[in-house]
Amino acid sequence: MFQKILIANRGEIALRVLRACKELGIQTVVVHSTADSDAMHVRLADESVCIGPPPSRESYLNIHQIVAACEITGADAVHPGYGFLSENAKFADILAAHNITFIGPSGDHIRIMGDKIEAKRTAKRLGIPVVPGSDGAISDDKEAKRVAAEIGYPVIIKASAGGGGRGMKVAHTEADLEVALQTAKSEAGAAFGDDAVYIEKYLEKPRHIEVQVFGDGAGRGVHFGERDCSLQRRHQKVWEEANSPALNAEERSRIGDICAKAIADLGYSGAGTIEFLYENGEFYFIEMNTRLQVEHPVTEAITGIDLVHEQIRVASGGGLSVRQEDIKFNGHAIECRINAEDPRTFAPSPGTITHFHTPGGLGIRVDSGVYSGYKIPPYYDSLIGKLIVHGRNRVECMMRLRRALDEFVVDGIKTTLPLFRDLVGNPDIANGDYDIHWLEKYLAKGE
Ligand code: ADP
Repeated sequence: MFQKILIANRGEIALRVLRACKELGIQTVVVHSTADSDAMHVRLADESVCIGPPPSRESYLNIHQIVAACEITGADAVHPGYGFLSENAKFADILAAHNITFIGPSGDHIRIMGDKIEAKRTAKRLGIPVVPGSDGAISDDKEAKRVAAEIGYPVIIKASAGGGGRGMKVAHTEADLEVALQTAKSEAGAAFGDDAVYIEKYLEKPRHIEVQVFGDGAGRGVHFGERDCSLQRRHQKVWEEANSPALNAEERSRIGDICAKAIADLGYSGAGTIEFLYENGEFYFIEMNTRLQVEHPVTEAITGIDLVHEQIRVASGGGLSVRQEDIKFNGHAIECRINAEDPRTFAPSPGTITHFHTPGGLGIRVDSGVYSGYKIPPYYDSLIGKLIVHGRNRVECMMRLRRALDEFVVDGIKTTLPLFRDLVGNPDIANGDYDIHWLEKYLAKGE
């Protein structure tokens, strides 16, 4: 087992990883920018190293500084959290070259899944159902028209190097296609320095359903069921559930088994998430994330398994603590992402939190790095906490969530809490009857 882990992140996830390390008796080092000297993860860690000024590029994304911090403190492993360097293959390779363990998959697996065309090809080869579309990058208008006619309109053009929903364009007819292709290509070129795009069938009313997987790097793979993250705004997840209100047990184990086998065959190591669109009973692979996800706590709530413990075990060579048959799904869990944003306009609302009171009681978990008197710096993303609620079934979970949201107090800044108080009372949400466009339509109505 590792003696000392360096946590290369900030905010609630740095704290989340720190807690797991403490439970396992592992020493912790955190790195931070000058803007985060007062952050909770810095206060609670055994050691901390200031690695640079506020901009992420000069601190949380500064590989040289982070490696130097490992060398100075004698850390033998790095947990990257999510975002920042968590899906940076070069970072994983550099750590390996310094004999420091990256708590995550190999650089090569990160690389494959970071390239969407390569990821889709690999998924298909591994027996994962994919969205019908072009075999690889589209070379010209003629090819685009041929593929689109074959799969049928509407189609979506997506950037191979894509991320964060950028470089995607929908074409409803052949007349739209040329413009969509050009716009997607130039957006992709500008955003990612790579203008390769591909085409797939545009699904009109899908749900976003993702499967949590784990590989031990030695040919064993398991799945921890799925999460439904269909409630999104601008492709950003807002509310996540486990299990999905749309799946039955048979569908769950069918897609779960396909994913677990794929992970085993790939020789994958650590945590991963295989993301699908789901429509009319069919799953369509869209991408795989090679890291821990923001929404992992809903999976932990229904399985009772600490996924960060598992990540650390696997990375240290100790293998998975569970076999597939040990993983049972109990009840229902929902996570609300609480952002420091105006609940209507979603404009960021940094500033000082004058009062912070979190709900408690059975089935309530709050993962947050903030506290009363904490000043939210304006440089990073606006997630200030996650409320995760567990109940024996979805109805109990929703009742508990409503109660917990009422207890939650964050004064001094605007937050998205009022949005969740509205959502929890909405009949469609109560019925689990929503697709990936539901939230945008609801917000557009301005009810
Ligand atoms: P990114 O990596 O940029 O987030 P994804 O491939 O994960 O891109 O897609 C992001 C979102 O775009 C999906 O959650 C979905 O809302 C939409 N999307 C992607 N592909 C399709 C598709 N074939 N049909 C309909 N919507 C899609």
